[in-house]
Amino acid sequence: MTQQAVAPGQVADIAVVGAGPAGSLVVVQLLRAMRRDRRRGSIVLVDPAAADGGGVAFSTADERHLLNVRVAGLDAHPDEPGHFLAWARAHVAADVGPGDFLPRSAYGDYLRQTLQAELGEAPPGVRVSRRHARVRRLAVHDATTPVTLELDDGSAVTARRVVLATGAAATSDVVVTMWEALDAVVEERWAEAVRSLRLLGPWLSQLGGSAAQREIVEDTLLDALVHAGRCEEARLLLTKRLDRRQSALDRRRLAAIPA
Ligand SMILES: Cc1cc2nc3c(=O)[nH]c(=O)nc-3n(C[C@H](O)[C@H](O)[C@H](O)COP(=O)(O)OP(=O)(O)OC[C@H]3O[C@@H](n4cnc5c(N)ncnc54)[C@H](O)[C@@H]3O)c2cc1C
Repeated sequence: MTQQAVAPGQVADIAVVGAGPAGSLVVVQLLRAMRRDRRRGSIVLVDPAAADGGGVAFSTADERHLLNVRVAGLDAHPDEPGHFLAWARAHVAADVGPGDFLPRSAYGDYLRQTLQAELGEAPPGVRVSRRHARVRRLAVHDATTPVTLELDDGSAVTARRVVLATGAAATSDVVVTMWEALDAVVEERWAEAVRSLRLLGPWLSQLGGSAAQREIVEDTLLDALVHAGRCEEARLLLTKRLDRRQSALDRRRLAAIPA
């Protein structure tokens, strides 16, 4: 990653586990803060992935896979609005606008290059290493003793502080329950659909996505409840949602539920 790597056996100041968007941006912000405050230190970034930045969502090479957030909402530096737009105009197309939805691969490239740019600016007292391995186990002793990260290549990394940026790993239970729910909806087995969708509710965040995307699952549950004749439960669900946030559409839906 840089010539000034953390030597094997040395204790790093910070280990970042996961080089997806979150882990890469943590390293970017750490490097900026160290440069600003003229601090020395060492960081180890650990991830089996070949490339940094992309993670699960932005490593796709298929240009048809688009971002679901506009260019203007995806700056790597919160204090530099327009950072992604300027990058996109230089690297994607000169006429990219702030309201465009670019391919997800472009965002992976942007995050990777943003990290590279920050590494290039790192002052001599800052050392950064990249380990291409999976962390199998963390050995945490007490607050004053460094943490040992056991890697799946048989080696270990020791660090004073650890950032876990390993993403949302959906368990197979959650994916299977989602599949069963959607299968029941398609085949109009409404009682089964309701049961699976209700089971899914508390675990939905494991699948990732925004709150708006997760609400689509709740909408499916509402629909299944009405089809199953459980209108009172549907009304309760919508009323709770309206208590949480007002919506003209939900008010119309509530009024349309059969008595
Ligand atoms: C198909 C899809 C499309 C999406 N589209 C968008 C979008 O358009 N816009 C948007 O804002 N968000 C989108 N998202 C959500 C997006 O994934 C998150 O916003 C964000 O990118 C998650 O980043 P992350 O770094 O937390 O996790 P991840 O991207 O999951 O990265 C985690 C990294 O940690 C590594 N890792 C995991 N376990 C270990 C371990 N034990 N040891 C070492 N490394 C480990 C993994 O290899 C991976 O590289 C999408 C998600 C998916 C699944």
